[in-house]
Amino acid sequence: MLFIMVYDVVIVGAGPGGSTLARLLDEKYKVLLIDKRNLGSYTDNNKEKCCGGLLAPDAQNMLAKLGLGIPQEVLTGPQMFSVNSIDFDNNIERYYQRHYININREKFDRWLVSLIPNSVELCFNSLYKSYKKVDDYIEVKLNKDGENIIVKTKILVGADGAISRVREQTFEHKKSPDKYVSIQHWYKTKKEMPYYTSIFDKEITDFYSWLIQKEDSILIGTAIPIKEDANEKFQLLISKLKKQGIDIGEAEKKSGTLIMRTRKIRQINSIKDNVVLIGEAAGFISPSSAEGISYALKSGSILAKCINEQHYDFGKKYNKKTRSLKTNIIFKNLKSILMYNKTIRRWIMKSRILSMNIDWDI
Ligand SMILES: Cc1cc2nc3c(=O)[nH]c(=O)nc-3n(C[C@H](O)[C@H](O)[C@H](O)COP(=O)(O)OP(=O)(O)OC[C@H]3O[C@@H](n4cnc5c(N)ncnc54)[C@H](O)[C@@H]3O)c2cc1C
Repeated sequence: MLFIMVYDVVIVGAGPGGSTLARLLDEKYKVLLIDKRNLGSYTDNNKEKCCGGLLAPDAQNMLAKLGLGIPQEVLTGPQMFSVNSIDFDNNIERYYQRHYININREKFDRWLVSLIPNSVELCFNSLYKSYKKVDDYIEVKLNKDGENIIVKTKILVGADGAISRVREQTFEHKKSPDKYVSIQHWYKTKKEMPYYTSIFDKEITDFYSWLIQKEDSILIGTAIPIKEDANEKFQLLISKLKKQGIDIGEAEKKSGTLIMRTRKIRQINSIKDNVVLIGEAAGFISPSSAEGISYALKSGSILAKCINEQHYDFGKKYNKKTRSLKTNIIFKNLKSILMYNKTIRRWIMKSRILSMNIDWDI
């Protein structure tokens, strides 16, 4: 059966970017928010976003600017105040003070969705398929419970993350960010690991790998350039960690997805006519740390402001106001040069600049 409904804004993706936009759009607009996940209720086959679930200072800053504080149930333990950097290339280990907030990512997404006003129509368990322009409208095709539905909208927003179909269909001839395959496995642990561990090893990846404790589990993840054999590299990481003395048993949960690494500003594409991208779909993600939540929150809130202020000229404004995000990504690329060059990193870590000593015996 085919239903035709008409909206002002259709948003594909209810991650931090899409749900922030949906929450902040003026209630005078008729808004539809689509997600293939069921973020309204829990089901047996919940699809969870594969993520480390750390809120970096930039994300904390954005939440503060949005007037939001995180409810207790979104937090997970332990809260960590340091990073353990292990450099396998240079055989050096250092601790640095950092202020991350450890969260349950699934609960974080659901909490953001719970803040969306009732005026927004939520369409979960629904897969966005394609769109086409018809006169002054955009016809959006989606599939809900095996049924194809077509809706019409004036503005289509792709907030559909790294594997963005909206991006693919809108900017097929444009450069997209470098693609990495990210693998994350969960292992039961009895040990306390009250720090976030980042691992640098050129044999595994030119990006980095990580360990994060989540209650009684340890999450081990890495991001591998798409042309490499990600499974083989992940196994290499596990064997190196075991040699380090880290106790790793059978994985209790396995996940994987793509992650974008925006190396050049021309890889960011965010607007074509009335089709707009926000968050990771646009390429807004840190190329040095893979931190993407702050960019999703920020681009979502900027777009809401632009649409609310001036409906028909919002694209130009959005482009202008997201320049600060692009500049930030340029800086993060410069930071990457320092972080991912073996010789520079060796020099920095050896110098002990900004590092700290942890006295485990106290
Ligand atoms: C392994 C890993 C670890 C990470 N760790 C961190 C971290 O610790 N901290 C951090 O800040 N960032 C982290 N990131 C990056 C961060 O997760 C993303 O950049 C951020 O979630 C982007 O938000 P978004 O709203 O743009 O997209 P997403 O959060 O990816 O949301 C996209 C939404 O669109 C939906 N969707 C996609 N396609 C369709 C479709 N065709 N139809 C319907 N719905 C669709 C998805 O279900 C999803 O809900 C990590 C990423 C990975 C892969």
